Amino acid sequence: MKDFLTRPAWIEIDLDKFENNMKIIKDKVGEKTEVMSVVKSDAYRLGALPLSQVSLDLGINYYAVATLSEALSLRKKFDEVNILILGYTPRHLYEDAIKNHITLTIYSLNDALVLNELAGNLKEEAKIHIAFDSGMSRIGFMPSDEAKKEISEIFKLEKINVEGIFSHFAACETDPEFTDRQFKTFTNFIDELGELGCRFKFRHIANSHSVLFHDEYDLDMVRPGIIQFGYTDSDHLPEEFGLEEILSLKAQISSIREVKKGETVGYERFYKCPRDTKVVTLPLGYADAFPRILSEKIEVLINGKRCKQIGLICMDQMMVDATDVDCKIGDDVVLIGKQGDEEIKVRDICIHSGDCETSFITHFNRRLPKYYYKNKELVHVSKMD
Ligand SMILES: *Cc1c(COP(=O)(O)O)cnc(C)c1O
Repeated sequence: MKDFLTRPAWIEIDLDKFENNMKIIKDKVGEKTEVMSVVKSDAYRLGALPLSQVSLDLGINYYAVATLSEALSLRKKFDEVNILILGYTPRHLYEDAIKNHITLTIYSLNDALVLNELAGNLKEEAKIHIAFDSGMSRIGFMPSDEAKKEISEIFKLEKINVEGIFSHFAACETDPEFTDRQFKTFTNFIDELGELGCRFKFRHIANSHSVLFHDEYDLDMVRPGIIQFGYTDSDHLPEEFGLEEILSLKAQISSIREVKKGETVGYERFYKCPRDTKVVTLPLGYADAFPRILSEKIEVLINGKRCKQIGLICMDQMMVDATDVDCKIGDDVVLIGKQGDEEIKVRDICIHSGDCETSFITHFNRRLPKYYYKNKELVHVSKMD
């Protein structure tokens, strides 16, 4: 039984659901708009390589990451796809980026000059997207005549191919007016650049929420992140579009004991049993997924029943109250996902830590092995080695 387990706590990823999510996103934006799959931070920790293979099989050829090392890890497996680094890349990494045909984000003429010269030396062409700051105040050219001048200078550089320009929404989920203003600032800026002869194959600004709720911002390319995995950081649920959550988090019971009324459980003697209690121990803790602030706030499913977590969550273990629940050591416990008629969703959990769904899932520790299923069959395992 479960002889594939390298430890009795693990993540299961449903590749069929992921494939379906990607199809829904592709259909939603239509043929005229390219999907750039955002797989930064190892696809929000769910595994950039196995998931991108699914996207590639659906014909998705554009991928976005945050750092050069993430880009190179994708490049090793996929020779042909286009990979954009969305963030700042320091100059000493340019050579490696150029040699591996990684597209860089640029927002200064001086950086472009350095990149151009290096590309020339390497007898290569460097592909870039220009970042534009329409109101996020993070990275990118700010709207000004000077910025336009610099960008038109970049267009003249022989070894640089300016493939795209992008901006990023600050509050697409919560502030539609500001979002619209950002969109107009962005497209006006592009129009003015057009008057200077600067044209872009890809103009893009749409993130997950925009893809679902604002077709009018799609432009030539969209950059969905969190919705690919079936989650959202907004109050609007992605289920209404047919998107499904692709992960479950499970563990096996590692110990069971009867603790008498009045005795305590765990560090700091934080939980005092109000009655004789069946305490079940699980072999995962705050180093794996559940920050300590969630202590006594979460529930888990044992034998289809909800059980309260009790005491302070430890680094590698936690205890739950399973009084009156029939169970034994080795039984599967669901911490995220379905069991019987019950379901625990990421949003039910992270609301208690004041976190958003994106932040919560990106904090899963790599030491939690991931098992990928297709047609209910285990097809791929990814574990920390
Ligand atoms: C992370 C990120 C995205 C994807 O954001 P989601 O809200 O997860 O869709 C898109 N664009 C940029 C620049 C990002 O940093």
